Amino acid sequence: MEADNRITGKTKLMGVIGNPIEHSISPQLHNTLNKMLGLDFVYVPFRVETGALQDAVKGLKALGLVGFNVTVPYKNDVLEFLDETTEEVKIVGAANTIKNAGGRLYGYNTDTEGFARSFKEDSGTGFEGKKVAVLGAGGAARAIAVKVASEGAAGISIINRTVSKAMEIAGIINSNIGTGTDCYRPEDSGAAEALFESDIVINTTSIGMFPRIDECPVDKNTVFREEQIVYDIIYNPVKTKLLKKAEESGCKVINGLGMLFYQGIYAYEIWTGLKISEEKLREAYACFVKILGK
Ligand code: NAP
Repeated sequence: MEADNRITGKTKLMGVIGNPIEHSISPQLHNTLNKMLGLDFVYVPFRVETGALQDAVKGLKALGLVGFNVTVPYKNDVLEFLDETTEEVKIVGAANTIKNAGGRLYGYNTDTEGFARSFKEDSGTGFEGKKVAVLGAGGAARAIAVKVASEGAAGISIINRTVSKAMEIAGIINSNIGTGTDCYRPEDSGAAEALFESDIVINTTSIGMFPRIDECPVDKNTVFREEQIVYDIIYNPVKTKLLKKAEESGCKVINGLGMLFYQGIYAYEIWTGLKISEEKLREAYACFVKILGK
């Protein structure tokens, strides 16, 4: 048997905390990057039980991790244990990437830029002057709506079952950015109108995600216009019922694979200080798609 020299006394640690954590593909993505770039880092998943977040964060700091990701349900709660955060994290109220710089913890949100880059690359356009409809008002919606507003969207409509959560996001946008934001329940007549009039529709709900792939976040009578761009942040399945419906109407459709990939890339660049070349990015993306079996 050959000795295993992959982890030595010099190897540095990265990781992800969440609960559950078993489904996360971040370890494969980041360890692929470590291997591809020849860096002596290893990325490990940590399941953190309810009530143990503060101990976990202290522990990761004490063990000298270079950084870690934070996923559901701790993206908001982690903020109180950080030393500094970006302005964007303060506005969104959530961090998914923490950098440990000599024992000081810095919080970032790379979901926002991950989403924006993926959208722009796949659609060939941005958000400036566009009317945007956001389906859902959970954590991902919050990050995306704030990003879209900060990049100059003309107006945002948030459509969510629990309308009070949509109104909370509208309040954040209103007081920090000022973009006009309307809120609707899915059954409101204004919701159908807002959907029809928007240039960009973004699904941030979990409706249509595996295994409930026959569900759709819009009513069966919803009609899309072919000029609309429809983005679903779900990546499993690759084409949700919503995307199939929009594609039938001739719309440009995009899934959440790119968002997932780029939020990880940005986190990795924050921890390592590296800027990953376009060529390496393409190579990493091809591996990433294989990891997901897509
Ligand atoms: P979350 O905070 O739990 O929000 C879930 C949203 O979905 C809420 O708006 C919720 O409405 C709505 N929803 C869920 N089930 C529903 C149902 N049966 N009927 C109507 N509305 C329903 O979750 P999140 O963190 O924002 O994540 C949402 C989805 O995005 C998940 O599928 C997640 O995997 C995906 N995601 C993808 C990426 C990526 O990188 N591609 C990143 C983050 C998240 P209520 O407010 O009324 O409960």
